[in-house]
Amino acid sequence: MTAQILDGAALSKRLRAEFKVRADELALQGTRPGLAVILVGENPASQVYVRNKIKACHEAGMVSFDFPFAADVAPKLVFDKIAELNSDPAVHGILVQLPLPPQFDEAEVLAAIRPEKDVDGFHAANVGALMQGDPRFIPCTPYGVMKLLAETGVDLNGKEAVVIGRSNIVGKPMAMLLLHAGCTVTVCHSRTKDLNAHTRRADILVAAIGKPKFVTADMVKPGALVIDVGINRLPAEAGGGLCGDVDFAAVAPIAGAITPVPGGVGPMTIAMLLANTLTSAERFAEGTVK
Ligand code: NDP
Repeated sequence: MTAQILDGAALSKRLRAEFKVRADELALQGTRPGLAVILVGENPASQVYVRNKIKACHEAGMVSFDFPFAADVAPKLVFDKIAELNSDPAVHGILVQLPLPPQFDEAEVLAAIRPEKDVDGFHAANVGALMQGDPRFIPCTPYGVMKLLAETGVDLNGKEAVVIGRSNIVGKPMAMLLLHAGCTVTVCHSRTKDLNAHTRRADILVAAIGKPKFVTADMVKPGALVIDVGINRLPAEAGGGLCGDVDFAAVAPIAGAITPVPGGVGPMTIAMLLANTLTSAERFAEGTVK
């Protein structure tokens, strides 16, 4: 069996072209979608993510407002900025790049963002709405994964889905979306006993662990849809570059479909951030949100 390669770069490009048309239409009516990005400190990975998000934003006909802060900034200054952005009519989405330096309580920062502008979908009100099956914003990475799964044309109803990872930003919302899509969902984590017994049952296997090539061929059911969320930078002695949580070369020959790293979930995360920003701008323009 040769796996279908789920090309997130191509799908993201297609979606972003569609978003540009919608963004331009909205701009003609007087609303240019706007995303504010707060970055605290100089974490190189965060800087790259923020740069890519801002670039994608501009290419899709949206404006971005960039707020870099020094790593040792007093939290009050960041909270003041969030308050200002909450009531700025040019801003439809607010994103605070995580992780934050230790003087911040991340939960407090996320709670300060107005839920109607929380395009990452991390505010407790939005997490609750997702849990209830009526999401305001779907967190970008799991949202992107659902779009990639839709590309396979496989009916998810009744499928066994296994998510490895239980973080608030990936694993938990991912499990919730798969549950709402009709899957029977198992969430595995570092305390899971006999992980392989779970993963080998999976029709859909999502790896969000943060460990290079953790998922090996013997962990995968033949024909499974394998989604690799992981982004790991390999050490120079291992050739450098990025690799996922799945051993792609070993798993691709037995999977039904698989995402590459890079070029799988990563580009979809950015595309879905744009989707959420656009949706938010449309809601403000329609007056369904004020
Ligand atoms: P976290 O570190 O928050 O979570 C990792 C999860 O993996 C935890 O739940 C942890 O379990 C679990 N885990 C760790 N070791 C094992 C193990 N040996 N067996 C089973 N489970 C294990 O990471 P994130 O969820 O934030 O990110 C996961 C990966 O996805 C990272 O590589 C990250 O870079 C990438 N990522 C990619 C994005 C994209 O756009 N493609 C976006 C966001 C993240 P426990 O809870 O018990 O500690």
